[in-house]
Amino acid sequence: IRKQQLIPKAQYGGRHAVTMLPGGGIGPECMGYVRDIFKYIGAPVDFEVVDIDPNVDNDDDVQYAITTIKRNGVGIKGNIETKSEAAYVTSRNVALRNELDMYAYVLNCKSFPGVCTRHKDIDITIIRQNTEGEYAMLEHESVRGVIESMKVVTASNSERVARFAFEFAKKNGKKKVTTVHKANIMKLSDGLFLETSRRLAKEYPEIEHNDMIIDNCCMQLVAKPHQFDVMLMTNLYGSIVSNVVCGLLGGAGLLSGRNYGDHYAVFEPGTRNTGTAIAGKNVANPIAMINASIDMLEHLGHHYHAELLRRAVHRTVNEDRVLTPDCGGTASSTDVVNSIIGNIGQVGH
Ligand code: ADP
Ligand code: MG
Repeated sequence: IRKQQLIPKAQYGGRHAVTMLPGGGIGPECMGYVRDIFKYIGAPVDFEVVDIDPNVDNDDDVQYAITTIKRNGVGIKGNIETKSEAAYVTSRNVALRNELDMYAYVLNCKSFPGVCTRHKDIDITIIRQNTEGEYAMLEHESVRGVIESMKVVTASNSERVARFAFEFAKKNGKKKVTTVHKANIMKLSDGLFLETSRRLAKEYPEIEHNDMIIDNCCMQLVAKPHQFDVMLMTNLYGSIVSNVVCGLLGGAGLLSGRNYGDHYAVFEPGTRNTGTAIAGKNVANPIAMINASIDMLEHLGHHYHAELLRRAVHRTVNEDRVLTPDCGGTASSTDVVNSIIGNIGQVGH
């Protein structure tokens, strides 16, 4: 087995260089808040900002972004738009994940006590295959009026992500891994994914393993979410289930997600939304991006700054309940950021 080597690379005088890809919609304003907060707490991180023009059909910007992430080892991103509808212009977000071989996506979904929701005390981790499956982007018109779209599942990637899930469960004291699939219909592709996870489960006898068909899984999630611990699934199911769970916990603006390969890590808001309709109005919930920045600080080993910021966010969201409208509050984005900055002084130093 190849050993995971998630070692942040670029470090100069104790400071880390991190690639920042603001993306479109609310990305740039949320990144602005992260930079303001980092400046305030003196986080030892220097951002290398790369803007990607959504209107251009070539991928020069994306290639440059990939080069900088390879150099820095770590990135933080908003959702990058691809305006072109030409079939040969593929999603930049997908290209980035594929070229950096970030095969695992991790979404920690833990309830926020200050956000009013139907279910309390949910604690689920979604682990999603992040580079293949339904996102192979191999579509063609075989004869006129007939489109074929390939779903690619490989033994090697199924094994890597399954191992990632069981290792994650082991390291984090989780008790159960549930593989989510549709192997009753997609017998070969989802069948391989399911069989692989069953085989690996045998290497982890201390962790319970079960599986669930995706449609039942969605019903179970909204009705009885507490039965889930770690969930493992292919790419598209991961996208949908992530959004279901984000919805259960208070919407698109709270959770952060992590993209991992053997060498690189990229942090971003959990639902990967662009938020075009709410951009520039000072209403976007900045918490998802700020949580992504906390994940990034943690990954870089800056535990002091990560913890300082985590405690301040906790106060703002769960105690002071300074919340944007998507979470039932009346605060603006900047009210939330100012509350966090105010709380840093209270909880820290
Ligand atoms: P898409 O990625 O499909 O463009 P949207 O950007 O439309 O998705 O986001 C889906 C929904 O979530 C929209 O109603 C949007 O306003 C909302 N949303 C996304 N991000 C945030 C955020 N940070 N704060 C508040 N609402 C958000
Ligand atoms: Mg989208």
